[in-house]
Amino acid sequence: MRFLLLSDIHANATALDAALRAVEGRWDSVLCLGDLVDYGPDPNEATERVKALSPIIIRGNHDKAVAGLTDLEDFNPIAKIAAQWTTQEILPDNLKYIAQLPAGPISVNGFTMVHGAVQDEDEYVFVPGQAIEGLLESPTDITFFGHTHHQGGFAYRAGQVALIQMRPEPGPKFTVLQLEAGTRYLLNPGSIGQPRDGDPRAAFAIVDPDHQTVEFWRVPYDIAAVQKRMELAALPRPLIERLAAGR
Ligand code: ZN
Repeated sequence: MRFLLLSDIHANATALDAALRAVEGRWDSVLCLGDLVDYGPDPNEATERVKALSPIIIRGNHDKAVAGLTDLEDFNPIAKIAAQWTTQEILPDNLKYIAQLPAGPISVNGFTMVHGAVQDEDEYVFVPGQAIEGLLESPTDITFFGHTHHQGGFAYRAGQVALIQMRPEPGPKFTVLQLEAGTRYLLNPGSIGQPRDGDPRAAFAIVDPDHQTVEFWRVPYDIAAVQKRMELAALPRPLIERLAAGR
């Protein structure tokens, strides 16, 4: 059984389509860590495509915001404009799907899934100091998280936390992490629709428990086409520009 692990799609249907095309036939079932919508120009297409994959899925903070489950006052001004635009664009059926997504953490198939942190779905895990609590407290050895839009994660073994950074070569490529017994992991597939780790390609992972591997993938997509749709939608300029920078 191989799991396609998706996170932070952020209403970018072009990136999602490119990712799905690149790994066609290479997975059996889908796990999704939330943030289907917001920032990007395709909230309906992104939601419909994810829904059609019948994933095991949890919500992200942007799904909550668009569904009206959190106050937009917590968002910065640019994020607020995007969330308001998304709220106007999203169709009732898609809004209903977004609004009913469960909160993490949930544990299935021997993994735990969270959007942000094990202890708080909205908390960011960027550095080892932020990862230690989740590494120790997660109910399973392997936990998947999103939210930071940084591909990679953390490993804990014998009292030490190590940073895991994956750097797939140019093109649609992946690098393999071999999971080791006696080690606990917090792993982030990266963001499909708005990567922020310096690599603008769509990021995701494929998890293979039978072989104890995680493939960290990067797939190029037509960024200019997405930027064009964002311009037509009058979405904030910094959100348009950051797609090309991957920051
Ligand atoms: Zn996100």
